[in-house]
Amino acid sequence: MSIKYRCWAEVDLAALRENLAWLRHRIGPGVKILTVVKADAYGHGLKQIAACLMRSGTDIFGVANLAEAQSLRAVGPGWPVLMLGACLPHEIEAAVRDDIRPTVSSLAEAHAFARVARRRGRTVSVHLKVDTGMGRLGAPVASAVELAGRIRALPSLRLEGIYTHFASAEDDPAFTALQLRRFANVLTAVRKAGLEVPLVHASNSAALLYEREARFNLVRPGLLVYGVMPPGRRRPPRDLANRLRPALSWKARVCLIKEIGPGDSLSYGRMFTASRRMKVATVSAGYGDGYLRAAGGRAQVLVGGRRCAVLGRITMDQMLVDVSRVPRVAVGDEVVLIGRQGGQSISATTLAGWAGSIPWEVLTSITYRVPRLYRGESAA
Ligand SMILES: *Cc1c(COP(=O)(O)O)cnc(C)c1O
Repeated sequence: MSIKYRCWAEVDLAALRENLAWLRHRIGPGVKILTVVKADAYGHGLKQIAACLMRSGTDIFGVANLAEAQSLRAVGPGWPVLMLGACLPHEIEAAVRDDIRPTVSSLAEAHAFARVARRRGRTVSVHLKVDTGMGRLGAPVASAVELAGRIRALPSLRLEGIYTHFASAEDDPAFTALQLRRFANVLTAVRKAGLEVPLVHASNSAALLYEREARFNLVRPGLLVYGVMPPGRRRPPRDLANRLRPALSWKARVCLIKEIGPGDSLSYGRMFTASRRMKVATVSAGYGDGYLRAAGGRAQVLVGGRRCAVLGRITMDQMLVDVSRVPRVAVGDEVVLIGRQGGQSISATTLAGWAGSIPWEVLTSITYRVPRLYRGESAA
């Protein structure tokens, strides 16, 4: 199916479905799953991924902004959608109209939603965010309970959820524990004030791996659903690490093969000079496709089932690869940038390491120029 493409991504929907099923199995009954599909479902393609997750039993969707929420509505009506980012004043009208659940961090936001909801004769379900140490969105711990009470008192708002977000769950158990304690104190006070909040959530992928206490009754994994481990100092439980399968592979092709000799330099800036005879392939992917330029000189790709070094700078549309050790390489051959070939594999996390980046950035950087091809649908 990929024969006509020069640089493409293959998305295995069966992997996605199995990852979600495995996460559900791990967290057990009584805990709902909000799957995060922001940034075009982490570069996998929002519409196809959302449709697949709807059939695979996700409970709620998480998006970053209103445009993403509206794209989801077009895929399938009826699913609750939580907007994780702040809703801007000019977006509130549309958010209420389209029944999007907003994240509320301040009384001003609560009032703005209440006003629009009242005028439209609607009730808006809101999630109150508490800033326990991320410092991005959320009400300060000290005023969270009062804000919960004020939201509760507004008849056109329904306080459906309360949540927080960890700053360093993959690296720092001590700070994560502190955030968790702060959140637990807020929850205790909210309960003491007689406020019932149906959904309580805190766990991103890393917290889902490492913080059992942080599951409450809803978790919010993104990266794990796509089968990628959040890199960090903490070591994931083996069974999960081995079970989850990356849904996305990224491929390109050999478009020219040549021999170079000692003293020949390659690519812009001449960062690589050969010290011996070598066979070099020009490959049809570059930073215009989203391959991070910072990976140049360090990255590897798979050709003919072997790991091959990327030589010199990555250019907009092409990169150069040492194929000296690949016996029968030919123009048109598949080159794997992320994924498996032969017995070898390269993960988004490994590629991120070469670029001094993180897998979230690697995945969301793959550009519009790279068609996403879907398989694994029939097993639905
Ligand atoms: C992006 C995001 C998530 C998911 O994070 P992962 O690390 O990809 O699991 C969860 N919660 C919030 C608030 C987010 O912004």
